[in-house]
This record gives sequence, structure tokens and C-alpha cells, in this order.
Amino acid sequence: MAYKTINPYNNELIKEYPNATDAEISNALALGDKLYHQWKKEPVSSRQARLHEIADLMRQKSEELAKVLTVEMGKLIGEARGEVELCALIADYFADHSETGLQPTTIKTSAGNAQVVNEAVGVLMMVEPWNFPYYQIMRVFAPNFMIGNPMVLKHSSNTPTSAVEFEKIIKEAGAPDGSLTNLFLSHDQVDQVIADPRIQGVALTGSERGGSSVAQAAGKYLKKSSMELGGSDAFVVLADADLDQVIKTAARARAYNAGQVCTSSKRFIVADNLYDEFLKRLAAEFAKLKPGDPLDEKTTLAPLSSAKAKQTLQKQVDDAVTAGAKVYFGNQPINLSGQFFQPTILTDIKHDNPAFYQEMFGPVAQVYRVSSESAAIELANDSHYGLGGIVFSGDAAHGKKVAEQIETGMVFVNSPLYTLPELPFGGIKRSGYGREMSSIGLKAFVNEKLIVTNDHPDFENVNGGLF
Ligand code: NAP
Repeated sequence: MAYKTINPYNNELIKEYPNATDAEISNALALGDKLYHQWKKEPVSSRQARLHEIADLMRQKSEELAKVLTVEMGKLIGEARGEVELCALIADYFADHSETGLQPTTIKTSAGNAQVVNEAVGVLMMVEPWNFPYYQIMRVFAPNFMIGNPMVLKHSSNTPTSAVEFEKIIKEAGAPDGSLTNLFLSHDQVDQVIADPRIQGVALTGSERGGSSVAQAAGKYLKKSSMELGGSDAFVVLADADLDQVIKTAARARAYNAGQVCTSSKRFIVADNLYDEFLKRLAAEFAKLKPGDPLDEKTTLAPLSSAKAKQTLQKQVDDAVTAGAKVYFGNQPINLSGQFFQPTILTDIKHDNPAFYQEMFGPVAQVYRVSSESAAIELANDSHYGLGGIVFSGDAAHGKKVAEQIETGMVFVNSPLYTLPELPFGGIKRSGYGREMSSIGLKAFVNEKLIVTNDHPDFENVNGGLF
């Protein structure tokens, strides 16, 4: 069985789940489609109370839900509680803002009274990763529940229990059957579901590899898709930056969720005058992190999510070192049986080092020295990815000018990168396409339908464009 909950702190196999059967897939699609046709007759506002109820339930059960995350993928219990609260915030936000956000817009035209109305499209397939097992689902679920698009979920094979718990909350809150149906699908079954004519859109968050494969299936069957993929975000430290603020943010930006965040800062690009001090102080911050049981409040370094995640990261670091990178700090084994990886700082990564263009999904900071602002911008943009980024400057207005030159979907100046429901989330280049959350993400899967009405047809008054 591919779907397994294994605690990465002690490697205990907790539960296995069988793959979905053809009958389960067929039922899920039929249920979703039936619900879509029912929801079409109901206003967006009819689902508002239910979504608030989902938020309330998540808050009430926060401790229980957080524990599932920690046991299943290893994140610190405090961070797990934060993830549950973020989900509740997203649910509340879309419950409160969708009706307004989906109002029709009027167009001034000689063709008549023209409006674009925002309608549901049908059942969606969502494919989600393990690093934020609830939050990734909620980003797609909350807006589409309000719009009236039922959803089928395929979660990561290492976070099946999180998927089950999320689905349970939705049911408990009284959402109709079919609102979100979790299916333990194989990759081939994902393609099979996407091919089904009732599926009208595909949202994936995951790696470039997974994204490319699922986007191909969506393209083959002409289904609209949004892809939230990997990143190798730059953290640019300009010569006039305040190093106290920089260090606090830098350590968190790399070590939060054990470094397994798409928008973790992965490449630190530091002005010459601050480089030595930056390295020293970042190493000191990393040295403070304490590995241990992630359920213990005192632990500050969580294990990675799985044995495979650790092996992959170790190989990337080993290959980087073989190709000439220097280990400034870390890369020592941690004497615990879980999947721990010591926070590590790599320097001297040249352009031909395989690490230069790789996403390292764990607490490994690549640090680069630059002699000018233009060199910093050039290096930040020399990436196949284009997800987020951070710029620190002594002058926020100047930092904004630099941010404008960074080729990514999101840049924060003198600040950590926040994810909040009102802010659009997404990237460019190999980080994917489309946006989740905010008023932009709300409309990712709507039919923006033009309706033009006229009391009396009057061909004479319309200039051109008549079909
Ligand atoms: P992944 O291997 O691509 O898996 C993500 C999801 O896609 C899982 O449910 C996986 O299922 C599924 N999947 C993978 N290949 C597939 C295929 N060929 N057909 C159908 N489904 C497929 O990614 P991951 O390693 O779990 O997640 C980490 C990656 O996600 C990182 O690159 C990270 O940067 C990125 N990420 C991006 C964002 C964002 O918003 N941009 C947010 C978080 C994470 P299985 O588990 O069954 O393989």
C-alpha cells in the first residue's frame, strides 16, 4: 500500500491505507457532479455559515489536528498549531469575502447592457503536498466551496491521515457530501480522474516533476490548471541593511518547518561589507536549534518529513561539496533515530555546481557574496524558479526599487514572507502559474461569463464586431 503514516521522529509505521477502488472514484465523481448541479441553484451566500463552521471546528479541535500533523510529517507542535489557525483564517476570509468578490462587473459598451458574471465550473481535482498538509488543501477548498465547485482531493502518499482528518472536519461541519472527497489515488488514477468529463479544473501544489506530469494530463484533456511549484527564493541583504533584523528573519526563513517550505529563503545573497558577519551570526542562530521530539514544546529543530527527504537532501549537499562548495557550518550527523538534518551553511557555490540551480528542501542555506547591488539582482534572477523573495535594505523605498527588479511572483522588503488569505500566492518560471488565495485566487476556477441584454435589438447603433 502506497499511502502510509510513518512518524519521522521515531520511524514508527502508524497506519497504511489502500488505494482507491474504481467504484470509489466513480462514486466521488458522481457525488461531486450532482452537488455542482445542486449548488448552481443556490447563492454563494448559502455556503457562508458552513465555511465559518469549518473554521470554528478547526479552532476547537486545534490540539488534536495539530498533533496529527506533527506525528505524520514531523513539524514542531507550535508550528502545527499555527497551521491549523491559518486554515481557520483562510476559511473565515473566504466565507466573508467571496460574495462581494464574485459580484458581476459591468462593462460599458455599445452592444447593450453587458455584465460579466462569475459562475462555478464543476468538479475540481486537487493534488497536494505533505509540507503543510491542511493549509495546502484549505487554499483551494475555501474559495471553491464558496464558488460552488465540489472537489476531489489526492494528497501526498506520506500524509494520508491529515487528508482523512481534513475531510472529517468538513463533514462534521455539515457540508454536503461531495464538497471535498479524499481519494487515495495512484499517479495513473490521477490521470484517469483528470480525463473524466465532469472534472473542470486541476490545482496542484508540489514539485516541478509532479507539476509537469499533472499539467500534461490537464493539457491533454483541455482542463484549466494552476500549478504552485518549487522555489529557490533569494534573500538579498543590501549593504545598508540592519544586520540585527536580517539575522532574526534569515534564521527563521531557512529553518521554519525544518526548511521544507516552497518559499523558504534558500539563497542568501549578501553585500560584501556584511558577508563575514552574516555568516558568523547565522551559524550562531543555527547552533541554537535543539533537535528532539517535535511534540515537546522545548524542541526547536524538527526532523525532516521522511527518510527519503533526508536522503535526497544529504545527496544534494554531498554533491555540492564534491563540486567545490564549502561547508561553513553543520552537515554533521545528529545522534537521534529520526530523520534529523543539522542546519547547514554552504558557501563558494559556483555557477557550475549542481546546487546552484537546485531547490534544497531542508535547512541548508546557500550563502553568496556580492560586490554590488546590480550583481545581487543578477544573481537573484539567475534561477529557474520564480516564486518569492526577500530584500533587506536600510531604506524600505530603495528596497522596493530592488524588489521591482526581482523576477518572482512575491517579494517582501524588510520583512519575512507572510502567507495570508488576502495576499495572492504563486510564482512564475518553473515555480508554476496561477495564483491561490486573495481576490485573484478566488477567481482561479470560475466561468467569467459575459451576458449582454437589450430591450430591443438595434443593429444600427453598434459599430463593427457583429457576428
Ligand atoms: P511532489 O512529489 O510533486 O508531490 C506533490 C503531490 O503531487 C503529491 O500528492 C504527489 O503524490 C503528487 N504527484 C507527484 N507526481 C505525480 C504524478 N506524476 N501524477 C500524479 N500525482 C503526482 O512534491 P513534494 O515533494 O511532495 O512537495 C514538495 C515540493 O512542493 C517542493 O518542490 C515545494 O517547493 C513544492 N511546494 C510548492 C508550494 C507552492 O505553493 N508553490 C507549496 C508547497 C510546496 P505522491 O505522494 O503519491 O507521489
